[in-house]
Amino acid sequence: MTTPIHSDQNDHGHGPDHSHLGDMDVRVRALETLLVQKGYVDPAAIDRIVETYETKIGPHNGAAVVAKAWVDPTFRDWLAKDATAAITSLGFTGRQGEHMVAVFNTPDTHNMVVCTLCSCYPWPVLGLPPVWYKSAPYRAKAVMDPRGVLRDFGVELPAGTGFRVWDSTAEVRYLVIPMRPEHTEAMSEPELAALVTRNAMIGTGLASSPVSGPVQEQAQP
Ligand code: FE
Repeated sequence: MTTPIHSDQNDHGHGPDHSHLGDMDVRVRALETLLVQKGYVDPAAIDRIVETYETKIGPHNGAAVVAKAWVDPTFRDWLAKDATAAITSLGFTGRQGEHMVAVFNTPDTHNMVVCTLCSCYPWPVLGLPPVWYKSAPYRAKAVMDPRGVLRDFGVELPAGTGFRVWDSTAEVRYLVIPMRPEHTEAMSEPELAALVTRNAMIGTGLASSPVSGPVQEQAQP
């Protein structure tokens, strides 16, 4: 389960491709209408669930995990050994986050996450997936040309950097731990978390550089 897709077997652990979201949307809506009409569900309860995913659950959760891993070596080790437990300890748990694996970027290796068959994604730490994550071009190109995907997102890594692509499945969801940017030694955990973008945790980006401090000073004549 912790083998990159390059050397993985074909069994994706999904069953049939369920990427036809258009049909799915229609069916979900019809089902919701029926359940509400029959009095089985309260529309306000559904609204609360949607609102939760829009406001409380999102990439800021994953960013908190990354920032803690940057400042706390014990937590980092725990995250490497048992990401599900380490992440749960911060209160981030729930559907589509039951079996988490953290993959750590290094100067030599960049990690990227894709779901080749549909849109498996770690909801408790990243919220709902962006539209491009579910697109066929991303799903195909991430496997064949991860360096090119990163370039599409405006990031060029040194030629010697290796890439590992991880296929999220119904069983395992991956979280990329980006490298900590330089000149962030004095920053607090919340300040560090603000540098961690959603794309950095999918592997289609890097953590942001701090906008103030030594970086800016270096730019002065
Ligand atoms: Fe999937």
